Amino acid sequence: MKDNGFEAYKGMRKIIIAIDGPAGSGKSTTARLVAQKLGYTYIDTGAMYRALTLKVIESNVDPNDEDSIVKLAENTRIDLIYENGNLKVILDNRDVSDKIRTPEVTSLVSVVSAHPKVRDIMVKKQRELGKDGGVVIDGRDIGTVVFPNADLKIFMTADVKERAKRRQKELKAQGFEIEIEKLIKEIEERDEFDSNREISPLKKADDAIEIDTTNLTIEEQVELVLKKAYELINQNSN
Ligand code: C5P
Repeated sequence: MKDNGFEAYKGMRKIIIAIDGPAGSGKSTTARLVAQKLGYTYIDTGAMYRALTLKVIESNVDPNDEDSIVKLAENTRIDLIYENGNLKVILDNRDVSDKIRTPEVTSLVSVVSAHPKVRDIMVKKQRELGKDGGVVIDGRDIGTVVFPNADLKIFMTADVKERAKRRQKELKAQGFEIEIEKLIKEIEERDEFDSNREISPLKKADDAIEIDTTNLTIEEQVELVLKKAYELINQNSN
């Protein structure tokens, strides 16, 4: 079937597309655009951990205090509202889409998200959001833990310098001027932490397709994932 927009895919079986990878590898942008193209829901699990981290900071809870964060998480509502290709992150009925992207949240999110009991709560929410399919969901442990039976698993990587450049551009648009060396260090440290934590580390699933986005444009990344998705949707519909 030709790619003529998601109208053509209405009524067909809705698959689960899992996209994992390190910080700045292009997952979120790709996931959002693939979801838009297919008429699917986009679930940004990093945004969920970021929203919880913002609440930890605002509640003056110690990011190392797992039990207190669990209590907080149990009394937290996080909604991801996906409209016209844009994602709004709502924390307890308040739009925090910009606030969750500050350097302060970024510097603490890996510590908050490494607590096993905190992950249990978040993973449950993520499974609930994606259970009916028709979703593109991105993170670190989607293909390995959250949806190990996802129909399509992608693992995105890119050279760290390229990832730092992308992050620098994003931050600049938000009014933060940060040196490239600092960003390279921050990204390397976060990846190292995320890859070496005990539970659900950042890891490529054995059956994931690896895409190195260092020299790819966003359009090319989206095309690659869509091509795989269309193949599966067509197979499953026959
Ligand atoms: O994707 P993003 O960079 O916004 O994720 C922020 C952080 O949230 C990651 O560095 C990681 O510590 C955590 N995270 C996670 N598991 C996920 C998604 C994000 O631990 N599925």
